[in-house]
Amino acid sequence: MNGRYSAKNLGVKRIMQEAKEIAAENAYEYSAHPLEDNLFEWHFTIRGPDGTDFEGGRYHGRILLPSEYPFKPPEIMFLTPNGRFELYKKICLSITGFHPEFWQPAWGIRTILLAVIAFFPTEAKGAIGGLDYTQAERRQLARRSREWICPDCQAHMNNALSDTKRELKAEREDIPSIAINYKAEDESSSLTTNSSSNTRQHLSTTPNQDGSGWADPPGHQEGVSSQSF
Ligand SMILES: [Zn+2]
Repeated sequence: MNGRYSAKNLGVKRIMQEAKEIAAENAYEYSAHPLEDNLFEWHFTIRGPDGTDFEGGRYHGRILLPSEYPFKPPEIMFLTPNGRFELYKKICLSITGFHPEFWQPAWGIRTILLAVIAFFPTEAKGAIGGLDYTQAERRQLARRSREWICPDCQAHMNNALSDTKRELKAEREDIPSIAINYKAEDESSSLTTNSSSNTRQHLSTTPNQDGSGWADPPGHQEGVSSQSF
């Protein structure tokens, strides 16, 4: 990302600052980094919240920053099978591109990640991009997720997060109120939901035998057969 972007551009400055802070923070709950060839596409990993069906899980995904960032919100999609969010589909949180009216430029990629973590255990209730898998299916996916490798950035979930717990920062207290703004989509507002779902995974080159991102192709998929891998 050196020399390709103007350092005078406010958005670029802001994104590089966020990348620096998140790397330095080395958080227990999440990690995120811009792709080497595109500052506006990030990949992230979040830890499944303790005490939920997702405990022990590590989930990877993409964050797409608009050229107007931070004045317009990022969009987010998951790549690791999780049973809560569909893969390769922009998910519906009030703070993402689906509800730009809620977005505030003071928020950042950390805000998004913390809101998604807080949002993970909520019920999907038919929302766009939401999945209502059973507890057993989600727990199985959580266990398997540690062996998942990103076909794009090669991040291995088993070592994608810091193992050191740290004191939560004060700013994180804002997160639940952000997540509460979530609402189910109705048909009239679902304009962009199908744009790229389920296509990229078939195009990407991958080091894995079955192209799904698993380090070891799982032997038991009966319980999760509706997932798109
Ligand atoms: Zn990745």
